Amino acid sequence: MTTLSTTCPMDCPDTCVLEVAVEEGRIAGIRGAKDHPTTAGFICSKVAHFDRRVYHSDRLLYPMRRTGPKGSAEFRRISWEEAIGEITSRFREIISRWGAEAILPYHYGGSNGFLSDGFLDDFYFAKLGASRLARTLCAAPATEVATGMYGKMPGVAFEDYAHAKLILIWGANAKASNIHLVPFLRQAKRNGAFIAVVDPLLNFTAGEVDLHLPVFPGADVPVALAMIRLWKEKGALDHEFLRQHADGLETLLPEADAWPLERAASAARVAAEDIRRLAEAYAASSPAAIRVGWGLERNRNGGQAIAAILAMPALLGKFGVRGGGYTLSNSGATKLDTKKLLGQFAWNTREINMTELGAVLAGAVSPPIQGLFVYNCNPAATVPDQEAVLRGLAREDLFTVVSEQVMTDSAKFADVLLPATTFLEHYDIRRGYGNYLVGGVQPVIAACGEARPNEAVFAALGRAMGWKDAPFTWDSATCAQKVAEAISIAGRPADPAILTTGRVQGYDFPGPNPIQFATAFPLTRDGKIHLAPPQLGPKPFQYDPVTSEKFPLALISPATSKMISSTLGEWNYPELRVTLHSRDAAARGISDGEVVRVFNELGEVVCRAQISGRMREGVVSLPKGAWRKSSRNGRTATALCPATTNVVGGGACFNDARVEIART
Ligand code: SF4
Repeated sequence: MTTLSTTCPMDCPDTCVLEVAVEEGRIAGIRGAKDHPTTAGFICSKVAHFDRRVYHSDRLLYPMRRTGPKGSAEFRRISWEEAIGEITSRFREIISRWGAEAILPYHYGGSNGFLSDGFLDDFYFAKLGASRLARTLCAAPATEVATGMYGKMPGVAFEDYAHAKLILIWGANAKASNIHLVPFLRQAKRNGAFIAVVDPLLNFTAGEVDLHLPVFPGADVPVALAMIRLWKEKGALDHEFLRQHADGLETLLPEADAWPLERAASAARVAAEDIRRLAEAYAASSPAAIRVGWGLERNRNGGQAIAAILAMPALLGKFGVRGGGYTLSNSGATKLDTKKLLGQFAWNTREINMTELGAVLAGAVSPPIQGLFVYNCNPAATVPDQEAVLRGLAREDLFTVVSEQVMTDSAKFADVLLPATTFLEHYDIRRGYGNYLVGGVQPVIAACGEARPNEAVFAALGRAMGWKDAPFTWDSATCAQKVAEAISIAGRPADPAILTTGRVQGYDFPGPNPIQFATAFPLTRDGKIHLAPPQLGPKPFQYDPVTSEKFPLALISPATSKMISSTLGEWNYPELRVTLHSRDAAARGISDGEVVRVFNELGEVVCRAQISGRMREGVVSLPKGAWRKSSRNGRTATALCPATTNVVGGGACFNDARVEIART
């Protein structure tokens, strides 16, 4: 038995340091490193059991070619040489008839690092001249707003939440997808901190939080603006700080004026008194930390809401102390110099919003998409308007390549299916977006079957095109070394010796964690905070509610403790359940555990009902990323989600879904 260290690259802010026990070449155990201050010896059960994906009966071990109808999962084994040859010749045919923009790389990078996402894949598709993809399923509005307002200034470190006297968690479920924040919340609570949560779901017990504000989905912006109006009325704004460090106040304050407490409370379907209590507690506390999640951006008002919330610490001068300020994504503090790595290359082709895949595959763009290369994602389960996506993937004239670890809902639609390695079988370098560390991912076991890492696949495809660029000749270890040499961590060069051997490198701000407006400052061009950045569009802070008489229930699809997006849905989430409040169930004669239809104008999901006191009235929940096999009719939450987008960053609006539920 040997124990090897590596880093968890999953789409999670915690970036755990892992110790993997290996016996006779097989994974025998995965646990968190005890000697790391944030991992602290524990990890989630998802990754503790990740070996179940590695050795799953649906694991893809060889390249395959489709032999049955699309979606049937009927394939026969072929060699890598045949697979690369077929992809190359089909792409050449498409380019000669339709032009290279008829090819679309379709990918996400939530659970990937610098090697497996945006490296040789980008280089290959750029040289091909393929269409570019706007990655909007998650974090697009939040990233746009954070960049425009603060230039992605490093945020409050999780460890420093222990110092806060007030913690406001807005649109994030730390218990499902940021579990290493929870011990620091508990420590702060023991120290007497006021803990408030804004979320339609109550994920904490009454003893863990002081105030729960179950805001109706999409109505966060009125609540935030009402708090700002109250502070203005009370004379609580820190005008001296704002004068020195911010602009845009003249745009923000009139918008806030339009939201008296009662009006905001009515829009958000919460008690006005609770908004007042939250506003007063925040104003009175220092240090005060706001953990802004990505749940609140997933609607047409999401970017605007994030901007109003991120303004709060500036408006009240909450920066400058340890534990004071905000946390969103901390990834901006680590950068990869792609020019140093790959040389200068341009990729200026048309951009396609990944949220609109269904319409795009139905012919909404010209030239039409004739070649689709899916990797690092599972659009059949995760992209809005599932019916349209499935129709598009089933197109006989669409040549689809899927590179995957297991037989996902999307893999079943491939013409050529490529077996991909998991993070336990390849190199990668993961920058944390929550914790302040950059982690080396190293292969702790040999690749299963003939699975290959992304950089090896795209290097082979580049060579097959006859391209002579050196990066297409690098093996994976060389790629890891070259990437590590091109990384800077808070402005300092990374150490390749650490990052290529499965270890982690910390930051120096100075000190391991930043203090906003003491050791970390806005990274905007002029060093100022822009309270109303241009990214908000022509109507900043506008509130545009979704209403539907026919479908009165709001559907949310949050992350769960069972899957990471759709990863692990193959074994860890066998049966889909829709969660609803007891009064909504009673009004429809639905009992707990009964099979129900959840439906709207886009589609229908058939699954069991789960009645829960954690859910607010008027809102129902289906989990993010569930696989089609988990439901009774092969449809999941995305079958009910519109493919509309936020004006900020083109972000997906999953939580704008409105539905009705009925007994079957
Ligand atoms: S998914 Fe998150 S909590 Fe789980 S091991 Fe990875 S980083 Fe840690």
